[in-house]
Amino acid sequence: LPATRFDAIRVTGGPPPGAAAVEAVDVCAWFGDRLVLEGVDLVMPENRVTALIGPSGCGKSTFLRILNRMHELVPSATLSGEVLLDGEDIYARTMRAQQVRARVGMVFQKPNPFPAMSIRDNVLSGLKLGGLGCSDKDALVEQSLERAGLWREVRDRLDAPGGALSGGQQQRLCIARSLAVRPNVLLMDEPCSALDPTSTRRIEDTIQQLSQDVTVIIVTHNMQQAQRVSDFCAFFLAAENEPGRVIEHGWTSDVFERPVDRRTEDYVNGRF
Ligand code: ADP
Ligand code: MG
Repeated sequence: LPATRFDAIRVTGGPPPGAAAVEAVDVCAWFGDRLVLEGVDLVMPENRVTALIGPSGCGKSTFLRILNRMHELVPSATLSGEVLLDGEDIYARTMRAQQVRARVGMVFQKPNPFPAMSIRDNVLSGLKLGGLGCSDKDALVEQSLERAGLWREVRDRLDAPGGALSGGQQQRLCIARSLAVRPNVLLMDEPCSALDPTSTRRIEDTIQQLSQDVTVIIVTHNMQQAQRVSDFCAFFLAAENEPGRVIEHGWTSDVFERPVDRRTEDYVNGRF
């Protein structure tokens, strides 16, 4: 491998303690013949919140989708390198994409519950898709909504349609739906950028609670949010006509307060 690939990567604040839940090893990604991510080496620590930050177009969403094999749903997309989930390569021939997606859930920018489906069935809908069973559905619905911070608001109207909820509640319903399949890892792609500040803070509280037993990886362009919710942080950047790379990663407090790279310092201080 060319040495320059690793020269571009700085680890700020030393290696994370404990186990890596997800590890990217020299990940490169293409759409058609266009390289959009190059040489991403990143360790995302278990039961922590990792924030992926950087300007638009630098490959954060692409990288996130690579972590649960949603990337391969785009026909022109190809990939090299490895993604290890608890040490296992999720792109190995023996792994099934559905299994991977049950272990690694995803929440999107725009809340996308099934609008005409009841709140209850929305929570349970991922089980059917994942081919998973459940012996006590009522308990699972309650527990998933509780973990998503929505139970108290909807316990008396579980048969109401998902579309009747407010935007922030719909996003928490989507979080509950992801949690119902009991993922080890939850990926969130700008989950609050369509929401008002109050809803945003509630979801941030939920994210921090979840990280007691779920590894959360969140893309955000809100620097205050990255500082509030994340333990660990990776800064992605793509120079003009170049693929995205990780410029620097480490403990969030180190990356924000003592960045090693000048470009990180400029970005976290809002200078581009
Ligand atoms: P970010 O989330 O950091 O804004 P993305 O991962 O969405 O960046 O995009 C990275 C690059 O890949 C961009 O140049 C974007 O135009 C390109 N890209 C993203 N999705 C596709 C796709 N489905 N087909 C072709 N190019 C894509
Ligand atoms: Mg994006």
